[in-house]
This record gives sequence, C-alpha cells and structure tokens, in this order.
Amino acid sequence: MHETYTYSKFPYAAPPELNGSATQRHPLVVIGCGPVGLAAAIDARQHGIPVLLLDDDDTVSVGSRGLCYAKRTLEILDRLGCGDPVAAKGVSWDVGRTFFRNEEVFNFNLRPQTGSKRPGMVNLQQYYLEEYMVERALAAGVDIRWRNKVVSVQAHDDHASLQVDTPDGSYALEADWLVVCDGARSPVRTMLGLDIDGKVFMDRFLIADVLMKADFPAERWFWFDPPFHPNQSVLLHREADDVYRIDFQLGWDADPEEEKKPEKVIPRIQAMLGDDREFSLEWVSVYTFQCRRMKDFRHGRCLFAGDAAHQVSPFGARGANSGIQDADNLIWKLKLVMDGKAPFRLLDTYSEERGDGADENILNSTRSTDFITPKGTVSKTFRNAVLELSRTLPFARKLVNSGRLSVPCFLTGSALNTPDCEAFDGDMVPGAPMDDAPVEVHGQPAWLIDQLGGRFQALYFCDDAGAMPEAMQMQLQGLREAAIPVEPLVIARKPGACALKVVVDRQGLAFDRYDAKPGTLYLARPDQHVAARWREPEVSRIVAAVARATANFAQEH
Ligand SMILES: Cc1cc2nc3c(=O)[nH]c(=O)nc-3n(C[C@H](O)[C@H](O)[C@H](O)COP(=O)(O)OP(=O)(O)OC[C@H]3O[C@@H](n4cnc5c(N)ncnc54)[C@H](O)[C@@H]3O)c2cc1C
Repeated sequence: MHETYTYSKFPYAAPPELNGSATQRHPLVVIGCGPVGLAAAIDARQHGIPVLLLDDDDTVSVGSRGLCYAKRTLEILDRLGCGDPVAAKGVSWDVGRTFFRNEEVFNFNLRPQTGSKRPGMVNLQQYYLEEYMVERALAAGVDIRWRNKVVSVQAHDDHASLQVDTPDGSYALEADWLVVCDGARSPVRTMLGLDIDGKVFMDRFLIADVLMKADFPAERWFWFDPPFHPNQSVLLHREADDVYRIDFQLGWDADPEEEKKPEKVIPRIQAMLGDDREFSLEWVSVYTFQCRRMKDFRHGRCLFAGDAAHQVSPFGARGANSGIQDADNLIWKLKLVMDGKAPFRLLDTYSEERGDGADENILNSTRSTDFITPKGTVSKTFRNAVLELSRTLPFARKLVNSGRLSVPCFLTGSALNTPDCEAFDGDMVPGAPMDDAPVEVHGQPAWLIDQLGGRFQALYFCDDAGAMPEAMQMQLQGLREAAIPVEPLVIARKPGACALKVVVDRQGLAFDRYDAKPGTLYLARPDQHVAARWREPEVSRIVAAVARATANFAQEH
C-alpha cells in the first residue's frame, strides 16, 4: 500500500487520578474522539462547559471511512470553527451522475440554487476531518485524554461513574452528564445493557482508495452493471491529494480476504480505467453494512450520539453527517438543562428530533441499498426494468436510486416549534434548517449562516435599517436581558444607523428565501433551525416561543 497521509499520533499523559488524587466529578464527559465526540466536545466548550474527552486510541480514523460531508454539516463545522480547513483541503462537488452500463440515465445537482457559502458536498478523507477537529478541540480548551479506554459505566440518578484503563493503570471518575460517541460497536451501550435494532445487508463491497493522476471531474459517478464489472455496481469519488475512492459491489459470496489481495484488486481497477495509467493503492478493505438504531438516545444522564446511536449504509453519506447533526442538536439543550434554565424534558426532544432524523436516514439508506443490491427475484426484476426504461423514459429516471445523499432534517414534527399563525410561502417553516444567503456586514461581503447559531436569535427583516421603528429596536434589545437571552439581528435591504446589529441583503436573496416582508421576524434556535416566525411580531409571542423551544411548556402563556 502507498501511504499519502502520515497518521498523527497524539501524546498520552498519565491522568492526575493515577497520582492518588480522589475520584473527580466532571460536569461533562464525552466518550469517543471520532467526528461526533469531537463535534460535541467543541460545541460544549463554545458554550462554556468544561469537557473531558476520552478515547481508547491515540490517532485519527484509520483507513477508508467517511468521505462526503454535506452542506449542512459544513455549516455546523463552520459554527464550530473548523469548516475552513475542511473546505480548503477537500474536493467540492454538487453534481452526481448515474450510468446504466455505459449510458447516463440520471443525474442530480445537490445545490440547484447558488448563493450559499458552502457547496452541496465536500469530499475529504475522515482522517483529515478528525485531524482538523482535534486541532480545533484543543484550541477550544477540550481536555482530551488519549489511550484512556472506558471499561465500565454505571448510570445513577444524578451522575454516571466510570472506570478507565490507561497504559499506567486504571482509575475511576464521575460525570454529571455523559455523551456517548464510542462508535458503531459502542462498548458503553453494551456496558449499560442497551439494545440497538436493525438489519445487516447481505452484500459485500470492496472499497479501494487509489492514488492516481486523473482528470475526472469533481462529481459522483455511479454505475449499474458496467461492462468493466458486470452485474454489480461501482461508485467513484474524488478525494483530496489525488486519491480516488472506488467501491466495487462484490456479492455476498465473495471471500473478503481473497478480494483484498492486490492481485485481485489491481485488475478490477485497470478494467475500470480502461487504460494503462499508473496508480497505487492507498487502502483496500471489504465492508458489509447495516441499518439500525437505538430506540431512545437518552438514558438518564447518558446521551448517545453518532454511530453509537444509529448506523446506515454509506450510500447517501449519512453516517458522520447525521452524527455531527446529533451533536449540533444536543449540546445547546444540555447547556440549558445544566444551567437549570430548561427541564430534563428538553433532552428527550433531542432523542425525538434526532430519532426522526435517524428514521429518515435509515429509510433512505435502506431504499438505496435495496435498489443497489436487490435480493429477491421480484425486486431484482423491478430494479432492472427501471434501469432499462430509464434509458428512454424520463419518468423511470426518478426511480433510479444509487443513493439519495444526506440532506438536513426538517424538524417539522417537533414539539419545540411554534406553529405559524400567518401565511408564509417557501421552505423556512418552523423546524427547518435555516437557509444561507449572501449578505454584507459592515460593508463587507459575508454569509447569513455565519451570523447565526450558538444562541437564540430574533431575525427582524426591514427595508431600511435606518428607519427601523425605535420601539421595536428597544423591545428586541430588551430580549437580550431575558433569562434565556435572544440576540436581535436586523436583515435590511438598505444599511442605516441602527442600535442593533445589521446585515444588508443587497441581492434580496435572504428576503426571498425566508418569504420575508418588512416587519417579518424569525426566531432562530441555537442550532440554526427555525423555531417560530411572525408577520407582526410581539415581544410576548417571542418570549412564549422561546419557552416552547426550550420545553418550558408551563411558561408558554
Ligand atoms: C466505507 C465507509 C464510508 C463512509 N462514508 C461516509 C461518508 O461519505 N459520509 C459520512 O458522513 N459518513 C460516512 N461513513 C460513516 C462514518 O465513518 C461514521 O458514521 C463516523 O465515523 C461515525 O462517527 P462517530 O464519532 O460516531 O464514531 P467513530 O468514528 O467510530 O468514533 C468512535 C470513537 O470512540 C472510540 N472508542 C470506542 N470505544 C471506546 C472506549 N471503550 N473508550 C474510549 N473510546 C472508545 C474509538 O476509538 C473512536 O475514536 C462511512 C463509513 C464507512 C465504513
């Protein structure tokens, strides 16, 4: 194998507990230094929570794992302060093409509308993602303990107690709250005797990361039954450092050890490339996939996130993407509960909202996997008929499913939303992930999404910031002093003197995307989802919507 990447080794240090100090109680312990644990830990630090992050290893993800990070995830990474290196190093793309044999039968564009900071997807090897996230976590003040393996967890009413093994011995610690991000096998899930249900797909995939010079466009290409790999599927993605990810479907009967041998892999790749260009193998592995989830992501003070809570097949890139969205949903709620500003019930809404997300991901991933790897004769006949028809009939193209890619969840069924009481058009319904738009801040080009997140915000739309009614300015300013503060943000077509922070929507895209009229107000959650909106806002309605969005249901009226 040819290594293009040198795996960072992070330093282990003997924990203070091993020097005889008493068992310590930490406000928050996160288990697992994968993308999800890192996202949770960084977010917690950004909310001012001291975080201890434990990992049994001392390096980043090894081998062929996560690759495609969706626009919504990139926006969260931006909020966490590590979006730029990911976007700079990765390969941005929006277009996917699906071929049946040699013919293109379907294509999609993940970003039909322009005017957003981030593209539909960025492809980047998971080891780079984690490296950048570790750098950010350390800068944010996360206490990371490498080679600290959690070997036992006991859940109590008001804390969790843990036993941790290190190279220098074992120690105990306690946590007021535990966020469990220890991956698909989740030893902690087993330690707590919790179940995860779902199904394994009876197929195997050879995944090769191949280093080569090629001029393939930055697009996703998927083949059904290509001449170079008959009766099976193949997927091609471009990654950073001239590495290409190629997935070959092998079938259930394939022998994983045989298939990984270079003498088997190299001819497959040569047949696909169809020429004698040089390449070398960076990493080769054979995978099977499963779709499953825990029924509940909250167990008292133990909160499960990422692969520990739910898993999908990689067709659709929904694994790390959805896990990072879990962290985004969880940490602001946990902060409010820790501060005594919201009831524990708010944490149940984490499980409800992200459970809905997991169901949506599993549904999409299962449909894609069933189409790609049909098992029964009937489903295979249907699949092949769709592919045949798609060559000539546009309606059949919509049924071709080579993986519907990760999209953000619309939390439209959430108990935290305040339903509309006035008419609005467009997508920005209560529960929606908030759309981006190009704006100006202090005369400089900026993005709306970068102005959002981390706290509740009131987005007030008006024509002329200088003419914003003074009474409204004062009322919105007053919301900053509330028990759960709301930060005002004025979105104006024209700049002008105003006591509040103003972004200028010169192109009118923010107005369009939010179906805003002068006087419209959106209440944004700390995770950049819409909580409520009004054409004629009143402070009492905003306060009630914040109460609802924080599960303080008794204080709503
Ligand atoms: C072939 C393939 C392709 C994929 N492609 C994509 C993609 O394109 N996009 C996407 O979003 N996702 C993709 N995924 C999924 C993605 O890799 C996972 O969803 C993601 O890594 C989950 O992150 P996590 O933090 O939940 O868990 P993990 O990344 O598994 O991290 C868990 C961490 O917990 C640590 N740990 C485990 N046990 C203990 C313990 N007892 N004590 C302390 N630490 C412990 C582990 O060492 C590890 O660091 C792909 C996966 C595969 C296999």
